[in-house]
Amino acid sequence: MTDIKSLTLAELETALCAMGQPKYRALQIFRWLHGAGVGFEGMTNLPKALRESLEGEYFIRDVQIETKQVSKIDGTVKYLYRLYDGEYIESVFMRYKHGNTVCISTQAGCRMGCRFCASTLRGLKRNLSASEMLSQIQAAERDTGEKVGGVVLMGMGEPLDNYGNVLRFLTLVSDKNGIGLSHRHISLSTCGLVDNIRRLAGEKLQITLSVSLHAPNDELRRSIMPIANRYTVDELLDACREYEDATGRRISFEYALISGVTDTPSLADELGRRLKGTLCHVNLIPVNEIKERRYKSATRAAADAFVRRLAEYGITATVRRRLGADISAACGQLRDEHDAYTKEEG
Ligand code: SF4
Repeated sequence: MTDIKSLTLAELETALCAMGQPKYRALQIFRWLHGAGVGFEGMTNLPKALRESLEGEYFIRDVQIETKQVSKIDGTVKYLYRLYDGEYIESVFMRYKHGNTVCISTQAGCRMGCRFCASTLRGLKRNLSASEMLSQIQAAERDTGEKVGGVVLMGMGEPLDNYGNVLRFLTLVSDKNGIGLSHRHISLSTCGLVDNIRRLAGEKLQITLSVSLHAPNDELRRSIMPIANRYTVDELLDACREYEDATGRRISFEYALISGVTDTPSLADELGRRLKGTLCHVNLIPVNEIKERRYKSATRAAADAFVRRLAEYGITATVRRRLGADISAACGQLRDEHDAYTKEEG
């Protein structure tokens, strides 16, 4: 059996032709799968015999809402989705002035081990298929009744550790016969898998690359991100410049402000010196506190001072607005709470 929603339109056409069907049937099916999201029985413009054949050869992946939390402050919705095999992932629907954005997961769990992140606490369970990434967008649109205009691959998982499926997702989500999102409205966040950043640069897509830097030197970076043992900051910044040259896109650097660890003035100077002259923007993220890690978020005053210091090196930086501050906002926390709850129940 094949995951039909993960097939591109061209692949679907080949498959339908092999079944002795005219090519236009593929487009009809593609529109159902990526639009209304109905089952085969709901594809009312297909002959019954074809619907039955499809049922025998393909399955349609979807995600089910297990729980959701709605912020009373700004309407942000955080979903815990259950997958077909009982795994759980998280997704966040955010309302901005310029439109709605969904932050999606690309893996169930994560094996990257970043010290400030709850998603990695129990390792990687499995990669998500392209259809499971698309389904997170569709489920949020169905539930809210609102259109999604932007996607960030910044939820649970390291997108470049699931390269093939993420690339397939990027092809599918931008197909004008389906969700039809421009790549310019998509951001991919990576902890810095240098080889795959280079590979992505070669694809020449117009997506924004968002790199979790979090420290300006190898020593500090290694203490909070195990990936820094594999690639140095120099190698990472070289790969980022390669991406920038290949795509013309400005890199977005993510920098978590952990009180007393990453938020000092001397680190701001070091970061400024390293990034000087790079086409980039720095997003400063006051970390969400994770009780297992004993990290505390930087104060607003420390964050503002960091911004001013970077400006002296010509680097623009903003402190990320915390959407959904009253709900389990950090990625991985909702799944963790759910697991703790079900364990207590059991
Ligand atoms: S920050 Fe991203 S890459 Fe790092 S552990 Fe969390 S999900 Fe994985």
